[in-house]
Amino acid sequence: MGYCNDMDYSRTMFPNILGHRTRLEAESGPEYLLLSVIHGLLNGECSPDIRLVGCSVLASPCQNDKMIKPCRSTCDALRKDCFHAFEAIEMAWPYFLDCDRFFASEEEGCFDPLVKLKGIRRTSELAMSGLSPEEPSTIIQFTYTSNAQMYSLLKRTAAKCSHISHVYSIGRSTEGRDLLVIEFTNNPGQHELLEPEIKLVGNMHGNEVLGRQLLLYMAQYLCSEYILGNHRIQTLINTTRIHILASMNPDGYELAASEVEDNSHPEPSQQEGHLLNGWTNGRTNAQNIDLNRNFPDLTSIFYRSRRSRHFRIDHIPIPDAYWFGKVAPETYAVMKWIRSLPFVQSASLHGGELVVSYPFDFSKDVHEERMFSPTPDEQVFKQLARTYADSHATMSNNDTDRCGASFYRTRGIINGALWYSFAGGMSDFNYLHTNCLELTVELGCDKFPSESELYPEWKRNKEALLSFMESVHRGIKGVVTDTDGNRIKGATVTVRGIRKDVTTAEDGDYWRLLNPGTHIMTATAKGYSRVTKRVHLPYRMNKAGRVDFVLAKVGSLSSLSLDTWDRFDPYNQFERYSEPGIGAGGIEREEKPWWWNYFSQSGVSPPNWLLRNV
Ligand SMILES: [Zn+2]
Repeated sequence: MGYCNDMDYSRTMFPNILGHRTRLEAESGPEYLLLSVIHGLLNGECSPDIRLVGCSVLASPCQNDKMIKPCRSTCDALRKDCFHAFEAIEMAWPYFLDCDRFFASEEEGCFDPLVKLKGIRRTSELAMSGLSPEEPSTIIQFTYTSNAQMYSLLKRTAAKCSHISHVYSIGRSTEGRDLLVIEFTNNPGQHELLEPEIKLVGNMHGNEVLGRQLLLYMAQYLCSEYILGNHRIQTLINTTRIHILASMNPDGYELAASEVEDNSHPEPSQQEGHLLNGWTNGRTNAQNIDLNRNFPDLTSIFYRSRRSRHFRIDHIPIPDAYWFGKVAPETYAVMKWIRSLPFVQSASLHGGELVVSYPFDFSKDVHEERMFSPTPDEQVFKQLARTYADSHATMSNNDTDRCGASFYRTRGIINGALWYSFAGGMSDFNYLHTNCLELTVELGCDKFPSESELYPEWKRNKEALLSFMESVHRGIKGVVTDTDGNRIKGATVTVRGIRKDVTTAEDGDYWRLLNPGTHIMTATAKGYSRVTKRVHLPYRMNKAGRVDFVLAKVGSLSSLSLDTWDRFDPYNQFERYSEPGIGAGGIEREEKPWWWNYFSQSGVSPPNWLLRNV
């Protein structure tokens, strides 16, 4: 039994505890198969412990023709430590590790299958304790993460940090993969009054993979550092709600990763295979749609209508025509997500350049492919982009030798349309349809860097990502209520000189990113009087200033007209169009977890005992 040959005994007997009569029978069962793949399924967690304990059941030692069972106490401890790892991949605790059924107490005479392992760990802990004890660090594996590993890693991270973290799916990709978000905040799963929400999105282009990895590292880092007591991380998580979508395009990633694998054969000369991958497929989703061209083009509407006096440039509705075109399920899922939470700021991580670009991405003159096309929030966007670029190790350097196009003159930031113009981008949509300000971060020249670059890239970007997240606490926030203290949802907060309003969220709270200075702010709502305040935002301010508004009711509401943004919007109708005809295979995939294929395709009797809720 190859997977059990590191046990510290060499004699076993059959039938074993599970009733297998021969070694062959034991080896061809689903229990042994599980032990052979468990390391990969749990991504190395609880390894080799599970395997050794499993082997001790499958092949117990014997003495004088008498079988010795493994100890119940070892099994109980294992179950306590590792149960959450199974939970995370939605796998039931294996029946043959039932501590009451197949294990024995010390009094009955048992053996500890982990005794050798524990000895080794004690020795290495002693050796480790000599190393810089004042700097507890997070152990992150700086390798590429497959889709299956990513899902498992996110769930395990959330399980490990369940008091501050939570995973949820915003939908599925074209090929049915989950678009899984991990959230960090001190009260996961709900919005807290005045707590700003931010999002980080990676891998929108499936072949631009560095952002995806950095976000996975960030999730692990936030979890571990919070537990270790890192004050900065605790403050960030306690005051912010952070949503991380590491991969918006897992189908594209699958394709890109498989091509890179094909290109990197073991011969040393081929090791540079990743350099070819500027050409790698997988940029688009599985329907060949470029997701960053697939959002509703509200920027054209803005350019057409901005001169009319009553045109509101916030929350521009989606034109009906958009829904007649091809809307990718990934785009749809993200649009719904963007609308469902009061995001204040966001970053979308890409690759291929080293620069931060900010809206508008679509040029104000259709004939000009490169034209400075600022939003009303140009100064705020610029400041936000500077925050990232300046905290990045090299992005704002003035070296001229980078990726072809050079942004050294602007020290690593640029207006999107001035770089190159395109319509249907995600950042423009965020800005014109919601309150959220989104940056596009180009992390480096290489879209699919070699694995050895992952750790250096993490070091280059870690501070930039943290500073970016912290910068959501700039500007002004507050609550809009009526004179009875009822919070007003959907009230408008205007800043003089910036023709882009923000609206209050469900609880009447709002956030307005603003640069330091004096600002005239006005709050209004339908049926209420308007209130104006003069606000001074000092230069050195590390948290958002608080400005509340109390609005008095005026007149009757009978003259209320329907605002354009209240009209029919096919968001909720769209669901049924997006459902593809699910074939028998599709249903199978829906019902069974991702790891089921390991077992169903190997010819063993199907281990239904690994399915939960069966
Ligand atoms: Zn991209």
